[in-house]
Amino acid sequence: MARLILFGPPGAGKGTQAAALSRQLKVPHISTGDIFRSAIAARSDLGLKVQNYLDEGKLVPDVVVIDMVRDRLSQPDIAEGWILDGFPRTVPQAQALDQLLSEINQDYSRVLNLQVSEALLIERLLGRQRKDDTEDVIQERLRVYRNDTAPVLAFYEQGTRLVNIDGAADVEIVTSRIQSAVSGVE
Ligand code: ADP
Repeated sequence: MARLILFGPPGAGKGTQAAALSRQLKVPHISTGDIFRSAIAARSDLGLKVQNYLDEGKLVPDVVVIDMVRDRLSQPDIAEGWILDGFPRTVPQAQALDQLLSEINQDYSRVLNLQVSEALLIERLLGRQRKDDTEDVIQERLRVYRNDTAPVLAFYEQGTRLVNIDGAADVEIVTSRIQSAVSGVE
């Protein structure tokens, strides 16, 4: 069953690839960034709480993100698989995910690490025009990635389910690389 974690820096293509995989595999795409952006657009309590973090390219506090993911993973549609995009982004989040999954008797099948050079990331993000894609905020998000998120790889490197994917190619090519990496996952 496909229970996939899409990992990588901002601009690596996690969202695009997760959406394509979600359609193909018919499992929900759970993007913490998308959930936060919808909450902000709806001006919900969660949205008000997280807006400044997103605007500044900072990480939302672990406790807020973990609560939200716990809630999402308690929905019935995740029974047949899922694709996590943008979570976990810190080592405590990765530890919490292990805990959450063991509580529901699940495990992840693969961590797909999309690798893209920093120069290409900046080029892609500057071309994207999202509100948090200004030059200063991009620099901050890349700094946060290096400091807080990249160490999550060491957490997953202890296992055998981490797969590195070269993300510096056209969308369809990256999709087919991911498909080969996940083909045959039970
Ligand atoms: P990108 O991968 O392009 O940075 P996302 O949509 O994944 O974009 O995330 C946008 C913003 O949402 C992040 O900069 C951060 O403020 C917040 N966010 C998303 N996921 C998390 C997370 N797991 N932990 C903390 N903050 C998060």
